[in-house]
Amino acid sequence: MPDKTTSRPDHHTDDGFRNPYPTWRDHGFRDMMKWTFSRKPDIPETYELPWIENDLSFLNASDSSVSYTWIGHATFLIEIRGTTILTDPFFSDRASPVQWAGPKRMVPPAITLEDLPPIDYVVISHNHYDHLDFKSVQYLSDQGSHFIVPLKMDRWFKKHGMDKVTALDWWDSFSVGELTFHATPSQHFCARTPFDQREVLWASWIIESTDHTCYFAGDTGYFPGFQEIGGRFTSIDVALLPIGAYEPRWFMQPVHLNPHDAVQALGDLGAKKAIAMHWGTIKLTDEAMDEPPRLLRKEIENAGISSDRFVVFAHGETRVIMGGGWNTITGDSTDRKLRRFSLP
Ligand code: ZN
Ligand code: ZN
Repeated sequence: MPDKTTSRPDHHTDDGFRNPYPTWRDHGFRDMMKWTFSRKPDIPETYELPWIENDLSFLNASDSSVSYTWIGHATFLIEIRGTTILTDPFFSDRASPVQWAGPKRMVPPAITLEDLPPIDYVVISHNHYDHLDFKSVQYLSDQGSHFIVPLKMDRWFKKHGMDKVTALDWWDSFSVGELTFHATPSQHFCARTPFDQREVLWASWIIESTDHTCYFAGDTGYFPGFQEIGGRFTSIDVALLPIGAYEPRWFMQPVHLNPHDAVQALGDLGAKKAIAMHWGTIKLTDEAMDEPPRLLRKEIENAGISSDRFVVFAHGETRVIMGGGWNTITGDSTDRKLRRFSLP
């Protein structure tokens, strides 16, 4: 019998997957309870968040450009010369196994599922309910979308009758047309119940076309993987990086970036530009809903990088990347309104 353990990747174990980096800390059930019972009420309860009413005319027209649209949370619509890709589509009211309890979104999706242009590919980073939303993927599957997912997540899709799915291990890739999807590491975990924590892999993604490379981080803590990814993919044009769900740090640091970490990650990846995500949509953790972009602005200043390099989109905003710069399509800055939202 060949000895399977010698060639086994570091993140594979006999009883599932693990985070192989020294930055990982495993907070168990006891810490979860400690956080739950020590949570401070979030003040204030009403926030103003940037919002753009996307008229969809650009998104529905076939075009030879590369564009990014923030729909909310970790959901982006990426159009690369007419091919459409969605990241972690989340359109439901709650990030929960049931729609009558669990974290509720306070900001509606900037574009509804029904109004989206036909979606060719969907990448999924991990199976938490705010990233893998059954109602959303079922709708997209009915429309014919192809799902690119981390290793072993394909079982869940197939169990629910969604067969157009490709599952990849870290550093494996899948090419189709002019695109190649590469699964890359993240420091996070998977779980949809208390009993399935290590069964399904989590990942970040590189989406590569002939002249554009996108990095989608999913959920991740700060870890040496960013340098590794930047070393293997040396021309990342745009990195989609989470900046929210980071407080309290003693609990969240291994699994979620804060704005300081996100700026570090941008440097490690060597990406030309970054767009902020995973903030201002669902109340998940203890920081104020509108705090992440404020802290990000300070971190960008402290790091001495140009404010045009790490940008915060309004919900619903579409920008085309052209000649290394941004071009807002859904109107100019006068269309960017602050909309008032309240905690549910
Ligand atoms: Zn998560
Ligand atoms: Zn998340």
